[in-house]
Amino acid sequence: MNVWRRLSGRRRAVALAGASALVAGSLVTLPVTAAHAATQCDVAYTTNDWQGGFTANITIRNIGDALNGWSLGFTFPDANQRLVQGWSARWSQSGRNVTAQSESWNGSLATGASTSIGFNGSWSGSNPRPTSFTINGVACNGGTPPPTTPPPTTAPPTTAPPTTAPPTTAPPGNKVDNPYVNARGYVNPEWKAKAESVSGGSRISNTPTGVWLDRIAAIEGTDNSQSNGPMGLRDHLDEALRQNAQYIQVVIYNLPGRDCAALASNGELGPNELPKYKAQYIDPIAAIQRDAKYRNLRIINIIEIDSLPNLVTNTSGKPGGTAMCDTVKANGAYVQGVGYALATLGAIPNVYNYIDAAHHGWIGWDSNFTPTAQILRDASRASGATAAHVHGFIVNTANYSALREPYARVTDSVNGQSVRQSKWIDWNQYNDELSFAQAFRQELVRQGFDNGIGMLIDTSRNGWGGSARPTGAGPTTSVDAYVDGGRIDRRIHKGNWCNQSGAGLGERPTAAPASGIDAYVWIKPPGESDGSSREIPNNDGKGFDRMCDPTYTGNPLNGNNRSGALPDAPISGAWFSAQLAELMRNAYPPLS
Ligand code: BGC
Repeated sequence: MNVWRRLSGRRRAVALAGASALVAGSLVTLPVTAAHAATQCDVAYTTNDWQGGFTANITIRNIGDALNGWSLGFTFPDANQRLVQGWSARWSQSGRNVTAQSESWNGSLATGASTSIGFNGSWSGSNPRPTSFTINGVACNGGTPPPTTPPPTTAPPTTAPPTTAPPTTAPPGNKVDNPYVNARGYVNPEWKAKAESVSGGSRISNTPTGVWLDRIAAIEGTDNSQSNGPMGLRDHLDEALRQNAQYIQVVIYNLPGRDCAALASNGELGPNELPKYKAQYIDPIAAIQRDAKYRNLRIINIIEIDSLPNLVTNTSGKPGGTAMCDTVKANGAYVQGVGYALATLGAIPNVYNYIDAAHHGWIGWDSNFTPTAQILRDASRASGATAAHVHGFIVNTANYSALREPYARVTDSVNGQSVRQSKWIDWNQYNDELSFAQAFRQELVRQGFDNGIGMLIDTSRNGWGGSARPTGAGPTTSVDAYVDGGRIDRRIHKGNWCNQSGAGLGERPTAAPASGIDAYVWIKPPGESDGSSREIPNNDGKGFDRMCDPTYTGNPLNGNNRSGALPDAPISGAWFSAQLAELMRNAYPPLS
């Protein structure tokens, strides 16, 4: 996923100059040769520049024989031009040479077909465009400089694609107000076995965690993926009945162009595959969840982590904005996809939909807060959905934000100066998840959601216990000393999101713990990685995001700080026993 969760919205003026290049091991620009006469291509390269940084959008058009896998090469004219982070391809830079290798989902290019990829870069002095491009080593554009405007045919539709009415078998209704109250949760046996493989894991292995349907194949079960096991959705539901569980938590996570602003959890569907998302992902899930034999089970769907907030904070013009986020915003993939999921699944009487709503360190700034509530509202009215298909929202999914910051409240001040001015809080209106979740609930109601909506908070990894946990406020010498000395969340920066060093298990799942909160839940199964700490080739379609690399020195989204990620991590979703061991050591409340 996933699940990137990142800081955005402030500090737009931060220059990219300090961003370091993405340098991967085996990069070579393939020599231009006439030997592959059947390869012919057009490459259009456009950039959107600002002081020190830029976003490049590249369209590759295959005008030769069909390609099964491609590698784009080009050379930056200026020695100070750097690749910072790319998408829709596997990017690397060596010296001035840049290579982008196709992903599994966009590697096949029929004659005449195009694909769009992009990256964020940095520059100083000037930002000239590369003068030539190669595909699989063969020069494109007839060897001449690329056209100055992108070719037609590939622009995503600017209006939302037509949608089919979702099948409605039963009206939403007859749902309990809070599905967690007095209810036993389903324990995923696949996660339980992994947790018990780590010493001391049996202390927590009976905890309900999310069942992630992170690809189409996961609906039936896969034994060849690193993040799912052989159990499919039906197997989990049957096992839930066998356990006499009253609720099960299912994560719906497969939008077209998934994880548009990060790389670690890019998914299997390309940005234009909304029809496939509906027909091959949501519809089959709905068919299973609708089965009458599960009617007495409360099926809680966690809908599409990180997706809609990305449309607010990570489109072009924003720090870290990407062309992929622009594409899925323009073509409606996320809004219509979420709407379709809500309408189709929410029509089932015993299904409860909670939409992901990021976390305070992402949308807690004024500039992001209301616009995010509005886009959530828009999605809840798309593709046949209505507010009645939404039971609530979840925050902090797979993130590390502390539940409460008793020694660094946003209302505190030091020598007359508000702590909101500290580097850590950085003018955010919130400094912990509980206060944020309660305030965001009210904003959602203001935007038209039902007054009865409830919030969930993922507390799987936000404990921050252990010996380094502060027991009182920091010194009053400055706002920074005060906040840094007293804060529970000990990340280097709130924009860090991958396999955070020092984190611990948080509150165990609890129903109705506070006003407006339906439950504390463990949606991210502790011990499952957020992303690999170096590039690891895999068949799961997972990319490499440098925010998971402990040696990375960051980008504007994390204030150009170190990533704080644990070393030796496997790809996202794969089992990372060292992380579970650390999470248990630093659990808060501590494990007995
Ligand atoms: C991964 C998924 C995985 C989930 C739960 C996400 O980051 O992309 O494949 O199922 O985490 O661990």
